[in-house]
Amino acid sequence: MWPYHPELLAQAVPRYTSFPTAAEFTGRVGGAQQADLLANVAGPVSLYAHIPYCEQICWYCGCNTGASGRAQRLTSYLDALCAEIGLVARLTGKRITVDRIALGGGSPNAIPPVAFVRLLDRLMTAFSTREPLISVEIDPRGFTPEWSRTLGATGVSHVSLGVQTFDPAVQAAIGRVQPLAMIERTVDALRSAGVRSLNFDLMYGLPGQGDDALADTLERTVALRPDRIALFGYAHVPHLLPRQRRIDATNLPDQAMRFTMAARGFELLTAAGYVPVGFDHFALPHDGMAIAARAGTLRRNFQGFTDDQAEVLIGLGASAISCFPSLLVQNEKNAGRYRMLSSQACLAGALGVERSADDRLRACIVEDILCGRPAELGGLAEGALLQEALTPFVALALVGLDSGWLVPTQATRPYARSISALFDPYRAQAPSRFSSAV
Ligand code: SF4
Repeated sequence: MWPYHPELLAQAVPRYTSFPTAAEFTGRVGGAQQADLLANVAGPVSLYAHIPYCEQICWYCGCNTGASGRAQRLTSYLDALCAEIGLVARLTGKRITVDRIALGGGSPNAIPPVAFVRLLDRLMTAFSTREPLISVEIDPRGFTPEWSRTLGATGVSHVSLGVQTFDPAVQAAIGRVQPLAMIERTVDALRSAGVRSLNFDLMYGLPGQGDDALADTLERTVALRPDRIALFGYAHVPHLLPRQRRIDATNLPDQAMRFTMAARGFELLTAAGYVPVGFDHFALPHDGMAIAARAGTLRRNFQGFTDDQAEVLIGLGASAISCFPSLLVQNEKNAGRYRMLSSQACLAGALGVERSADDRLRACIVEDILCGRPAELGGLAEGALLQEALTPFVALALVGLDSGWLVPTQATRPYARSISALFDPYRAQAPSRFSSAV
């Protein structure tokens, strides 16, 4: 069992899918900087396309998504997305090659299968691709045999399913009801269609959920043997996400129970043969993510932990974030304004942050800590303030310090985000934007 030190987890901290985090984005970065970098980028890049629609909206959801509603709404969004793809491809020219394409949201299966085929075709023909690895997020509630045939025919190899919990009472409490039989059917259909890597997104810290209910969900999950499992702590931030106001906050587990759940999840999944990946992912030993974790090449980006080694990720669609070594830039979040920009042949970058050399050093350190490998601290190792902040973690053997390197221990995992926050000089501001450290 992990050692529990609540005083070291008291501060709300980011999930650090980037450094600096999206909280540091400002309007000083936008389409102009995006255009400059796209006009100069070369080599392998990955693409992410965002579909900001779902057939049903879950109460806990933190994604930029809305109800799919009228067909015309989807069509005009997809037209805008295709226009942006054309614009970005013209800027990048033949200098880049695309090895990975991810479609997420929202729910990519909120659009008709035929529209999905057209979108993929647009991506594959606009850019130079080399048999890219294609991954798609799927909502099992809208998954049909036609979708199964579509994913098989388009060569989608990786699918992530939103599962969250198998407990019917907890499902009702979060506004996402999907029986076990539905997930079993979806898993069978995806495997028959040739999908070779399946991920389940699961959550702990949900309303009315205890550690036994979590263990039951994990046992049912292990029986279905997904290649990857992401076990996220639910972040209750209704001041930022009004849809979460439908969740009964009085019924949420406290921090001690959240810690117990995360620890029990870790024990149960590792005992079932899963390799821990970062602080909240798990993968079967054959899977690319487990291989990357063992090899020390795991990365962290806006999609979470990944084995993708590309230095540049180009985000397409409303709210999608592009990541360049020197810049993070997010497209306009509002789908209506995004459509307007794209229809006028304008890049949609609206917010972002330029990364200084110091940001990039800290970004490497944070990524190393979160990925569970030693982090070279460079000049930061000598800082008295940092030494002082690290002292309680080092004294309790939650992390080691050795000749300018921060070295993970058996107990680092649940404290990884809190330790990362010590390297984040922006965190003095607005900590309430973030979620519980565990
Ligand atoms: S299906 Fe996924 S993206 Fe859509 S509302 Fe539910 S959690 Fe959010």
